[in-house]
Amino acid sequence: MARVGFCLDPVFLEHDAGPGHPERPERLAAVERGLREAGLAKALVPFAARAATREELLRVHTAAHVDRLAAAAGRRVRLDPDTAMSPRSHEAAVRAAGATIAAVEHVLDGRLDRVFCAVRPPGHHATPGRAMGFCLLNNVALGAAAALARGVKRVAVIDIDVHHGNGTQEAFWTDPRVLFVSSHQFPFYPGTGDLDEVGEGEGRGFTVNLPMPAGTGDGDYRRAYREIVEPIGRAFDPELVLVSAGFDPHRDDPLGGMAVTSAGFAELMDVCLAVASGAARGGVVAVLEGGYDLDGIATSTAAVVGRMLGRPLSALDAAARPGFERLLAAYRSAHGPHWPAVRRP
Ligand SMILES: [Zn+2]
Repeated sequence: MARVGFCLDPVFLEHDAGPGHPERPERLAAVERGLREAGLAKALVPFAARAATREELLRVHTAAHVDRLAAAAGRRVRLDPDTAMSPRSHEAAVRAAGATIAAVEHVLDGRLDRVFCAVRPPGHHATPGRAMGFCLLNNVALGAAAALARGVKRVAVIDIDVHHGNGTQEAFWTDPRVLFVSSHQFPFYPGTGDLDEVGEGEGRGFTVNLPMPAGTGDGDYRRAYREIVEPIGRAFDPELVLVSAGFDPHRDDPLGGMAVTSAGFAELMDVCLAVASGAARGGVVAVLEGGYDLDGIATSTAAVVGRMLGRPLSALDAAARPGFERLLAAYRSAHGPHWPAVRRP
């Protein structure tokens, strides 16, 4: 039975993005409710968050960005039209990053097999130099950087959030040690993530974007993950897998336009576990990103964590749509040059 860790620090509830903001503290209560109602909470190993150090933050972020956030501690500051800090936001962000880094350390040291980090604020839109899209510090990028700093040679980041993980992409754009795979609604916020964005220099081919039309559901997601993400991930054979676990592709999400169900999210996690089945020895750290429908968050967290614990997949009844063939072919021609495993079906 896999030892699955869980981290939720009370300070994550104190980040207040402003009145009526969809990225609200109740999201974490939904995570806890989902785990409790599914009977999973007691199977998890709780562990404490810690504050990420300045040195750890500077592995991904610029000193100017780190200093700007620190200067906002104790105050209310608006960073972009969607992104604001409350007096406790700096503390929450630094501990969300630290929780992710601690999770990576627990897995690399063999204390835990897998981890789910229920953090706020989310991270994948935060670029090295700036906050955006509800995100202050890039938690998964910092987790990946922590693994690299310990000598890990290959880290995969799989981003299932409905929005493109532009910040993570930018952080590792030229770095072949980090395979960044993102499936996302496109065109959509933040505007990046097209098929031809594959990385540059040494990193060329190690950014894999799977843009998808609005309305994509379980069947098409399954095909994209089984036929593209899994073979590329297995070929890369990471020593650690990080998952940007955004639940906003859920069919009830008020921001996203996708049609994924909780069973679909379990299927995506199953692919992440398959990617981790080689050199990573099953090591997966999932970190909460978006997801704004509270029941959707609750049931999707339970499905994903249940799969991490080894619960069986439930059957998906959704068929892939015929039109999706064309998109799969486009994925193969964009990524096949770098990944022979996906050149043909
Ligand atoms: Zn999102």
